[in-house]
Order: sequence, then structure tokens, then C-alpha cells
Amino acid sequence: MQSLFEPLDGETRATPLRLAPVVLAVALDQTYDYIVPDDVEIEPGCFVMVPFGPQSRIGVVWDRPVANPNGEPQKPIDPKKLKTITGRLDAPPLPPITMRFAEWIAKYTLAPLGMTVRMMMSARAVFEPQKPRFGVTIVADAPVPARMTPARQRALDIAGDGAIRAKAALAQAAECSTGVIDGLVQSGNLVEVAIPEKRPPVPDPKHRVTELSPEQAVAVDALRSAVDGGNFSVSLLDGVTGSGKTEVYFEAVARTLERGHQALIMLPEIALTDQFMRRFTGRFGAMPVEWHSALSGPERGRVWRQAANGEARVVVGARSALFLPFSDLGLVIVDEEHDSGYKQDDRVHYQARDMAVVRGSLGGFPVILASATPSIESHVNARNGRYRHVVLPGRFSGASLPDITAIDLRVTPPEKGKWLAPPLVEAMIRTLEDKQQTLLFLNRRGYAPLTLCRACGHRIECPQCTATLVEHRFRGRLHCHHCGFSIALPEKCPKCGEAGSLVACGPGVERVAEEVAERFPDAKVALLSSDLIPGLTEMREIIRSIEAGGIDIVIGTQIVAKGHHFPNLATVGIVDGDLGLAQGADPRAGERTFQLLHQVTGRAGRALAEGRGYVQTYMPDHPVMKAIIESDREAFIEQEIKSRQRGMLPPFGRLVALVVAAREKETAQLVARDIAHRAPRSSMIEVLGPAEAPIAVIRGRHRWRLLVKAPREIDVQAYLRAWLADLPPLKGDVRLTVDIDPYSFL
Ligand code: ADP
Ligand code: ZN
Repeated sequence: MQSLFEPLDGETRATPLRLAPVVLAVALDQTYDYIVPDDVEIEPGCFVMVPFGPQSRIGVVWDRPVANPNGEPQKPIDPKKLKTITGRLDAPPLPPITMRFAEWIAKYTLAPLGMTVRMMMSARAVFEPQKPRFGVTIVADAPVPARMTPARQRALDIAGDGAIRAKAALAQAAECSTGVIDGLVQSGNLVEVAIPEKRPPVPDPKHRVTELSPEQAVAVDALRSAVDGGNFSVSLLDGVTGSGKTEVYFEAVARTLERGHQALIMLPEIALTDQFMRRFTGRFGAMPVEWHSALSGPERGRVWRQAANGEARVVVGARSALFLPFSDLGLVIVDEEHDSGYKQDDRVHYQARDMAVVRGSLGGFPVILASATPSIESHVNARNGRYRHVVLPGRFSGASLPDITAIDLRVTPPEKGKWLAPPLVEAMIRTLEDKQQTLLFLNRRGYAPLTLCRACGHRIECPQCTATLVEHRFRGRLHCHHCGFSIALPEKCPKCGEAGSLVACGPGVERVAEEVAERFPDAKVALLSSDLIPGLTEMREIIRSIEAGGIDIVIGTQIVAKGHHFPNLATVGIVDGDLGLAQGADPRAGERTFQLLHQVTGRAGRALAEGRGYVQTYMPDHPVMKAIIESDREAFIEQEIKSRQRGMLPPFGRLVALVVAAREKETAQLVARDIAHRAPRSSMIEVLGPAEAPIAVIRGRHRWRLLVKAPREIDVQAYLRAWLADLPPLKGDVRLTVDIDPYSFL
């Protein structure tokens, strides 16, 4: 340890100064040396307070000095300018692997190291002074209080078991006021003590033995042997919806627990339902530790500590769970691995699925990617042998996949002002008669995507974005889905002033719900849209009532597509199958539409004898529609892989998006052109653009895009670093975002 902190040359002190390299959780890309005071014990990974400019900040003592990733040596610091660590925080240190992981992500995404370290510190409570909660417990041999009342007696009787309880809890149990409890503390019969942190229950790998189908048994064997191999590998668990992937990967979790390691199961945020938690509990006899955005600050702190001290054996969480400081992680499962929610496009642009694979390779343990519609990237990796391909061919229940019918809107359009075509309505009527559920899917929040003035033709747009405002009728407002701007629904046209001339154009889920209410006034309807559901808890409640069959018709955006298992769901209707295909510049538009439609229609008939899917489309001959209707996944994948290969698109080529944004359009354009102009010449790398972004303005900032295309083998990060290092500093309000492996092309 000592060797890390080199004494300064020329020091005349009796003991040489100790120095420690520290990473600060700010947008900086290197360690800074700080003096370690004699009375502070430090170790690699520990958290310290350090002066930084006029402020005091939290830093992590790194286990080696890191210069900036350009490879330049860290500049020697004038010893007189060295500052001193002010103190060590009482938080578990970052494990070395977590430090390597932060470095790796920084290098790959070009984000500053300080920002990736910040992701590893996403539980503020850990770094704040611990406030223990106090409770009371009985003092065994204290004399009986002078004044004994029935209330006091009840409290003492309950406390007699020696447990530590919060005052309020004891008062409630004894049906008295907390004043009574305080009195007993004063009389010396109860004493206040800190309530120890609850340890999470320990999942038992042998709690329930799952009877596996023969196909599942083969898959489980493959995954178990990956775990037993005890080294890095990636398995793609590829099986239709309802094939029992969850049951199968639970066995890999069980094996990991048996071997004494921690396991992480990653799910798209919205799939973190209590249905999943119940299934986990059924298999392991204990709840997993959860990590998601609905946790409170103290809960986050608790989970962070439990990951670090090993008390959390299994964590189930959203993408950021990957950055918890696990002390001994031995398995990561990425469920719904194709889900685009795994890509973060904020601050550090990373793809959590890919980073999970990196984490596995750093930690030397297996990673399992599970999906009914794996990403093209994962398919290619499975084909070329980089990933093991573990396939579950059929549904566990033996039910067949739903029959999918295209409803050609050119032939059987809905009535004017309606959105459900006659064949879909008929199917819904039949489903209701059979006392089964229907799910209508439309990936658009709100009531209508466009509000138009009939008198002057004015379209109501966001003042800060290139986007029309979306009507949300339940709230009586128009919202911008890009910046959050909103206004009350105007009565008159804001342009020509004509009253009552505004008309809603096109459907959102609220409008579909309105039509359903008109057509099926007696049906019980649930509308699922992220803006209408305040949080995960409410979401879980609605999902539960759907599962229990308390709902006849579910209408939802993509939040219904993820991982739910609705046993009574027979019919799925896709209101606008073409919606996702319009995004021309996005190389994954086809793939994503296929995945979404396949996942949504796959909700039907999971437990029932038969399910049916209906896709309303104007393009029944589009390859994506054909693949969906004919349930020909393999043909679609084949064709998609070929077209990616031809276009040198991911995973055959690499893409990087550069977005320049500025208040003034000319500035953004000029800077983007200048950046393009300065691109180092390369016969292998293409720099496309700049072009105005499809959403040209967001939050009042004009956006210009550049796209870098490189062959797979090229170190595109090195190319970009060399390029960006030579750019003149960005002036004023100009911002440059670098997005390696972009998923958004808007
Ligand atoms: P997937 O994740 O592939 O969509 P699930 O794991 O959710 O599939 O399984 C679908 C349904 O079948 C669930 O209700 C699950 O409990 C049940 N199931 C799957 N495998 C088994 C098994 N081996 N024993 C009992 N039930 C199973
Ligand atoms: Zn806006």
C-alpha cells in the first residue's frame, strides 16, 4: 500500500509526505494527488473529502495514478500547491474491479473518468453521516416503576421479549401514546438503543426445486456449466415468450449462490414488477434486494452498502444496478436484453447490456443475455461463436404462439374519427363474450399527437423544440415530449384567434381509451401510460389487477410490452403497426419495430389454448410486417443481418454520433462544419455530415449531427480522441456530445 504513495523528493520532514491519487466525481479525466494527513488511514477505493477549488468534494482514493486517456503523463504538481485530504468517509471502499470498470467505461465512451466514477456512487446516503435510528428495549433487572398503569404494563409486557422496537411501533402495539414509552425510559425500565440495520433475507438455492421440461433441462445444463466453469463467458438465452427463460436462468442464479457468489439480475425498469419478485421468492424463499429509481435515498444507501459488504446475495435492478460496488459478483443476467432502455443517453452514454458483458469479463464470470427477440448484435455474436446460444424452442405451457393477422387499413379502414378497424372490433367483442382479456397497444402517450386550426391551418408547436405539442386530454394540456414544456389547452387558435376551431389529429392511447369506452361501456378498462402512472408502486398495483383478471381491456404504450404474464389475455391489437418504421435514419428501426410487435403480440395466449394478434397497418407487405404476420423470426433476422452487413452497420461496422448544439442555428452549423473539417484523414473511416438533426431544435438549442462510420476492427476511440483533442475550445453555449454506438438518431 505504502508504495503507492511516493514520498516527495527533497522533503526534509522526518517522515516523508504521503500522497494519494484521488478521482473526483466531476467531469475531469485524471487523478489528482493529495497529501494524506498522518492521522488519516487510507486504502485504495476509500472515499475522502478533499478541497477542490473553493469547494470541498468527495473523492475516491485510486489505486494508481491515472493520466488523461490521451496517454500523456500526469503533469507533476508543484509541491507547494498540493492540498491535503480533509478526512475519510465512513463508507465501504470501492472494490478494485469497480475501479477498473469505471476506467473501462470512461475509455470506451470517452466520458471523463470522474463521471463514470460518479455512476458508481449513485447512493448519496452512503456518503452522508450515518444517522442510526433509535428504538427502545427493556432493561431486564430494573425495579418496577413507582407508578404503574395498565398502559405501562402492556408496554412492558410486550417489550419483555427483549426486542428492539421503534418507540412508535411499541406504542402502537401496546395501544398507548409515545408519551407512555417516554415515561418508561425516564423511569429506567426501557432504554434507547440504536436499531441495527436489517440484513436482507438470504435466498436459498434449494428452497424449491423446479420441475423442468426436457428442453429447459438442456438449457439449464448449459447455463450451469457456464457458472461451474468459473470464468468469463456469455450465453444468449433465446426463447419465445412464455418458454420459461426466467425459470431457467433462476437455476443459474441458484448455482451461483451455491458457489458462494453474488448475482445480479437486470431488467428494464418497468419490468421490475412484484410478479417478478414473487416468482423469485417462490423459487428462493426470500425477496431479492431491489435497485431502481423508486427507492428512497436511505434505501439506496442501504443497498449500496449491502452490495459492498456482501449481504446482498441477489440484486434485481434496473440498468444502474450494474454499477453497485459488489464485493463478489459471480453472475449477471440481462433480461429482455434487446430492450432499448438499456442504452443511457444522458451524461455518460453507455449501453448497459454491453457494459454487463464488460463487467463479466473484468470479473471473470458468466453473463447471460435473455430475450425472446434478441438484438441483431447478440444474434451475430451467437452465430460467430463468441456467445453460447442456448435456445428454448417452445412455450412451457405447450400453448402455441398467437396467430397474427394483418388488418390492411387500406381495405378495412376504421370509421371516420375512429381508430379501431372493424375486424379488430369484432375480435374484441368475441373476446369479451369469452370473458377473456384484450390488450390494445399504441406506442404514443396522450390523446392526439397534433392539434390543428381548422380555420387557418396553424399547427401548435413547441416554442423550444421542432415538435408539435401533444394533447393530454385527461390533464387538459398540451405537452412537448422532448422538453417538458406545456400549456393549458387553448380555446382559441393562438394564431388566428378563431374560437372552437382547434381539432385533434391522430390518436394517442387516451383517444383509443375514449373510443373503447364508447364502444364497450360495460367493460372494465385499464390505461397504462407512463405519464398517467405516478410510480412503480402504482404500476405494480395495476399490473396485479390485470393479472388477477379484474380488467377486460388493457390499453397501453410500450410499458405493457415488457415481461408481464397476463394469464387471461387472449387478444392483442396493435393500433398502429407502422409507427416505429418511419424513423428513416435509424438503422435499428426495423429491428425495434419487429421486437416490439413480437413482444406485444407474444403477451397473448400465454396460458390459454390460443391467442390472437391483430396488426393494423398500411404496409402489410413491408418485410417487418410480413415477418410478424408469418411469425417468421428467422427469416427476418437473416435478412436484417445481411442488410447490416451490406451497409457496414452495427455490429459489422461501428458508429459514433457527434451532436453539436447551440442557441444560434448558425453557430451550431459553423462549429459542426469546423469539427467535420478537422477530422483526421483516414482511408477506413467515414465522417458523414454535418446535417441538421431530424429534431432540429430541442430546448431552444439548434442541433447538427455528424456520424462517424468505421470498420469493426478500428480503434474508433483513439481516432476520436486524436480528433477531439485538437479542436479549439468550444465557446459560449456550444455543446458537443459524443455518443459511441448511438441508439438515437433524432
Ligand atoms: P419467459 O421468461 O420465457 O417469457 P417464463 O419464465 O415467464 O417465460 O415462463 C412462462 C410461464 O410458464 C410462467 O408462468 C412460469 O411460471 C411457467 N413455467 C415455466 N417453466 C416452468 C417450470 N419448469 N415449471 C413450472 N412452471 C413453469
Ligand atoms: Zn419542447
